Amino acid sequence: MSPASRAALLLANTLPPDHAPDAPLTLQLLTFDHVRAYFTEVDRWGALHGAARQIEQLHARIERRIRFDSVPSLIAQPGRYLLAFEDAAQADRFRGEIAREAAALTGSLQVNCAQLTLEASALFDGLLPIPARVVGIPGVTPYQARINRYYGLANAGTVPTAEQARARRHFGQVYARLLDQLEATSAGIAPFYECLPFAERCSACRERPTSAFVNGEPRCPVCELRERTGASMAILAITLPGSERALIKQTSSAAFARVAAAIDTVTAPVLANPGALRLHDAYETRLIATPKRGLLDLIAKLPDAVRLPSGDETRVIVSAAYGPAAPRTLIEMAERGHHKLSPDRIGIASSPDSFGTYSAESLEWLRATVERLRGANLPPAAFANLPEQLARGTAALYTTYERLRLAPLMLRALDATEAQWGRESARFYRALADALALIRGDDERV
Ligand SMILES: [Zn+2]
Repeated sequence: MSPASRAALLLANTLPPDHAPDAPLTLQLLTFDHVRAYFTEVDRWGALHGAARQIEQLHARIERRIRFDSVPSLIAQPGRYLLAFEDAAQADRFRGEIAREAAALTGSLQVNCAQLTLEASALFDGLLPIPARVVGIPGVTPYQARINRYYGLANAGTVPTAEQARARRHFGQVYARLLDQLEATSAGIAPFYECLPFAERCSACRERPTSAFVNGEPRCPVCELRERTGASMAILAITLPGSERALIKQTSSAAFARVAAAIDTVTAPVLANPGALRLHDAYETRLIATPKRGLLDLIAKLPDAVRLPSGDETRVIVSAAYGPAAPRTLIEMAERGHHKLSPDRIGIASSPDSFGTYSAESLEWLRATVERLRGANLPPAAFANLPEQLARGTAALYTTYERLRLAPLMLRALDATEAQWGRESARFYRALADALALIRGDDERV
């Protein structure tokens, strides 16, 4: 039996025929370090999109390498890989190659890696399994009492059964240890390019020295590389609260693989959209860049309350805005949204500073509003300043003024919309701004 297939069998939770419980197996959890900062250090949509393309390309190369070396994996997403190696030296080589690929492709992205060589039996029994012979008399020593509390035994005078031990000692422990190690080894974004005080700084990241001018703006090599393939996109931020916890709870590698696949189905409808790119897949917030066309239909396809195995739900924040400072704000918003949005709500950001939140019911209203306004053919410049006026608290006055420029048919569509949301209500102005942002996102050629 070849070494790779033995590791694959172990990951699939099957004991190979020649199974030796103490045979070593190396697990590797590989991520791109501070990948969120890699996206947020620039405040240009084009650069953000370029960064997404780079991550896609890097992922394609890593996938090819995984296939070429026949490395069995439990997770293989852009920026997040959980792999098994028979041979620790092969794992080191693999990590080194990926780190070089990442540096060559992006100029600054570093790979962070947690690596654990353990006995194959740890995949089934967890780390530090209970010894076959327990020292001391049960219930007599404080040491044994502590062990029994750990296993949740009601009676201090007994020893844990095999089932009770399995409930505490399982595959999830191995994964949790890898996560801890990953946090400890995180190095941050390496500057790679020294910026002396008198050097002109890149105007996109303000971190590195300028090496070239792109459209008259100073750019560092990293940002220039990023922007070369840039185009404007809409960004979806989908948070999956509790997904990491759900993974840690899995007692076997097979169950772990099933849950990881279930979590992936949440983002699948968006990724199926032609031209969609994964920005950031790691941990609980996933960012996806997608063409602006058909954004609302795309949101409708997302399950608004997908049940993860642990009973947690999905939240979606959408940005249809294209302000220059949007990427950074959006990602911060996604982080804040984690606490702010209630689980059954969907937020749509139509400007970086303010955004409406929509329940499943009012999202249907928003869809109706989009259809109605689209049918009314409003002039492209109508209500163009509404987001700013909303922020300033002068939306009512501004809307009254803008109405004067509209044809009767358009006014009727606007009146119907206002009747639905509430006359002169803040909800109406918010929905109007969001619906127009969505319509204009669709009309713009990507
Ligand atoms: Zn730069």
